[in-house]
Formats: sequence, C-alpha cells, structure tokens
Amino acid sequence: MFSNPDNDATFASVNCKLENIVPLNQWLGKAGQLPLIAGPCSAESEEQVLAVARLLALQPEVSAFRAGVWKPRTRPSGFEGMGEEALQWLKTVHEETGLKTLIEVASPLHVELALRYGISMVWIGARTTVNPFLVQEIAESLRGTDIPVFVKNPLNPDPDLWIGSIERLNSVGIRKLAAIHRGFSFYRKSPWRNAPMWELPIEIKRRCPSIPVITDPSHICGNTKLLASVAQKAIDLEMDGLMLEVHHDPSSALTDKQQQITPDQLMTLWNILVMRSSSGDEHFELKLEQFRSEIDRLDAELIDILARRMELIDEIGHYKLENNITILQLDRWREISIDRISRAAGLGLSRHFIMQLLEIVHEESIRRQNDIMNHPSDNGTPSEVHLP
Ligand code: PEP
Ligand code: MN
Repeated sequence: MFSNPDNDATFASVNCKLENIVPLNQWLGKAGQLPLIAGPCSAESEEQVLAVARLLALQPEVSAFRAGVWKPRTRPSGFEGMGEEALQWLKTVHEETGLKTLIEVASPLHVELALRYGISMVWIGARTTVNPFLVQEIAESLRGTDIPVFVKNPLNPDPDLWIGSIERLNSVGIRKLAAIHRGFSFYRKSPWRNAPMWELPIEIKRRCPSIPVITDPSHICGNTKLLASVAQKAIDLEMDGLMLEVHHDPSSALTDKQQQITPDQLMTLWNILVMRSSSGDEHFELKLEQFRSEIDRLDAELIDILARRMELIDEIGHYKLENNITILQLDRWREISIDRISRAAGLGLSRHFIMQLLEIVHEESIRRQNDIMNHPSDNGTPSEVHLP
C-alpha cells in the first residue's frame, strides 16, 4: 500500500550500461599495488615537466605522469596552459622515463592532438563532464581507439551525469575506463576546495561495479594539509587508486600552487598511508561473521519495532479522525525531540543523527495519518473534490 512507484522506477534504472570493460590492473599500475598517478597541475615549460617527471620516475610506486596542457580557468586572466607545444614535452617524458602520460582533453581537437603526440591516456575534466553534448563529441573523436579514458566527476553532485559520460565513452568502444573523484563545487566556506561527498563515489562503485574509482585528493583539498587524510579515507573506502598533483617547486607553480607537493612529500605521504585489504584471514572472517549476524538480528528488531510504532501511529490516526483532532501537534513533537535527544546523548549517539532519524520517522507518521484522515482507501494520491 505504501510503495512509491517513482522510487521503484529509479531503483530499476540504477546500474550502468557498460560492455567489455577491461579491469584496471590490466592497464595501470603493478600487481598488488594501489595505482598512483602523479604530476604537475599544468605543464609549464619543458624544464619543469622533465624535472618533475625525472624525480617521479625514480619512484616505482608511480604508475603514470599527469599534466594539464590546456587549463580550464574560472577567470580569463589566468595561465591557460601551453597547448600543443607541451605535448612534445610529454612525448619526451614517455620516451625518456617510460612513464605513461595522462592529460585533460576538452574538445575533439585536443583528442586529435593527444593521439598525434602519442599521449598514453586522457581524462575528461569536471567542467566537461557536466556537458553531454561535449562529452558526446569527445567520445566520437575517440571512436576506433583503445586509449584509456578517465572521467572526472561533474562539478555538481549528480551521479547520473557522471555515469552518463562513462556510458557515452563506452558506447563508442572505449573499454579502459575509470572514474576520478575530485569533489563537488559548492558556495559556502568549508575546509574543502571541493566537497568530497563520499556517498557519490560509493554510489558509482555500487551502480557500476566494473568501473574503478581513482581519488584526486589534490582537487578535493585545495591545500596540502588534508591530502594524507583524504588519501587514507580513499583507501579505507576501497577506492582503486590515487591521483596527486606534484611539482618540483610548488611555490613557483602557475596553477594550483597551494595544493601541489614535491616528489619527496609525495613519497612521505605514500609511506604513511596504511594499505588495507578487503578481506582477512580465517579467524578474522569468523569473528566478522559473528559481528554481522548480530547486526542482522538488531536490524530485524529495528524493523519490527518501526512496524509496531507505525501500527500505533495508524491507531492514533483513526482515533484523531473520530474525534476531529489535527494531525500535527507541535508541542508533542517538541517534547518527543527533547526527550529522545537527551536519551540518545546518554547512549553516545550524536544529536544530528538522532534528529535526522526522528525527522524521517515523524514525516512518515504524518504521511500515514494524513492518508487515514483524507483518503483512507487509496495509496497516497490527494482526493479530488469537485466544487459545484
Ligand atoms: C586538474 O586536474 O588539474 C583539473 C583542472 O581538474 P578538474 O577538472 O578536476 O578541476
Ligand atoms: Mn589542478
């Protein structure tokens, strides 16, 4: 009686429609090691590109060298990248160090040039992923190639737009695909440059299990202080790789200087990260199984209790209907909130969490009582009143 057909439809469309995706470990990184992409925000000069690349090539942990050749700038006065000239420097990086190269492409012309200069892999930037027309044009220009493509999340937190771009690329035959989580734009002041909203990359992993997600702590943080904790969180959430901005002299960088680190700092950061595996030994699995069965039991109890609470809510609804009493009684709601929050605080539950929980329970209770009062027989559509 209470199912929502809209939600069911959304749920039915959850999964990505992708074909022949090649697992990440077949085209990036070394077996048993988290892929690490590193390099400057922008390719600024041949000296800078080679200086950073030579230092990174000394670290076997580094799987690929990134650099922006065309830079999307918010205001027109900033450094907009060196363009085609820089592609030759990246070609030299690949030939001299063997590192795979990775650049941003934002138009079919960028793709054509990237292919001409033998760039190993490309990424679609956050400002492009938001635009299906452009993504489609870029995808068409990649048709017939087998080049790996990374898709950054769109600026706005819209998983479908992100997935749509990945699907557009796959539908022209791109099989080596990965998502890059670089955080989401927002207006208010916060510790982040781009809010991580971890629930979104998790949703991508859930809806597109074959698509690896690489975390880009540099663009999430916008500074160097939070990089390590974001990188650790990515590992803890089973993300599939890291991309970090690295410059041999960050203070002189022409773009994103506050968030770039040196190759030495990159290795310090890498070495403090605690790698985790998704499963443990037999003893661990057994103990985990016990915890999980306890959780299953508690969840079942929680659902039974909620169902009992809703039955009572319905009874109260009928009682109010018989006595012509309003549904919403603010004093009672205030009383409940104060009492439940203080009880929850005593048990170590956060105020925010319990408030949210109470609010959705209250919302559902009001909805049920409203149904009882106004259209006891149908499933939630407002009843029509024909006025004479
Ligand atoms: C970048 O990686 O330098 C960049 C411009 O990225 P984004 O599209 O995430 O802003
Ligand atoms: Mn950057």
